[in-house]
Amino acid sequence: MLSGPSGAGKSSLINKISEDIGDFYFSISTTTRPKRDGEVDGVHYHFATHEAFQKDIEENHFLEYALVHGNYYGTSIKPVRKALEKGQLVIFDIDVQGNTAINNRLGDITTSVFITPPSLKELEKRLKNRSTDSSEVIHKRIEMAKREIQRISEYDFLVINEDLDKAAEMLKQIAITAKLKIPLLEINEFVQKWEDL
Ligand code: 5GP
Repeated sequence: MLSGPSGAGKSSLINKISEDIGDFYFSISTTTRPKRDGEVDGVHYHFATHEAFQKDIEENHFLEYALVHGNYYGTSIKPVRKALEKGQLVIFDIDVQGNTAINNRLGDITTSVFITPPSLKELEKRLKNRSTDSSEVIHKRIEMAKREIQRISEYDFLVINEDLDKAAEMLKQIAITAKLKIPLLEINEFVQKWEDL
């Protein structure tokens, strides 16, 4: 799971390492927030109305969902289950609430990474330069970042994205290591086979 303030560079980092970490599935969340310029439905997010999102909640389609900056965001169960069955590394870009929820549901097969710019000032600069959001939205994101940074101790790894190449290298190592984690379910099977050889 990857968390960190909008503007931390999560998407750029994932793009940068995507060819070096083998087979993976990037979990495409569903959200009620408006589409930003350049975003494509079904690629960056599944954009949904409040009504459709509510229906998905009622029908238990979400592994987790949360209210972030006044909009709903949720992770659908089905594609994640499919990817895990195929043995793919699943990458989630979710907030701290989502991180807690998925940790509770999937337990020790997860690896969590918090990605942050080196300082609050740098975050403000990046959000303003990106100019995809109104100043009110930027203000909300900064306040959210201040709250989220208080919870970095809940994560396995902290990546400070000062230099994109260095941060990407760190994330690549973490992704490769995450794939080596042994899911509990497979341990008994492995021990059994190992004893029988
Ligand atoms: P943005 O609007 O900048 O794309 O995302 C805002 C925040 O929502 C980010 O912190 C992102 O990690 C989080 N987020 C995106 N998708 C999900 C999701 O499915 N569940 C949760 N809990 N958070 C999400």
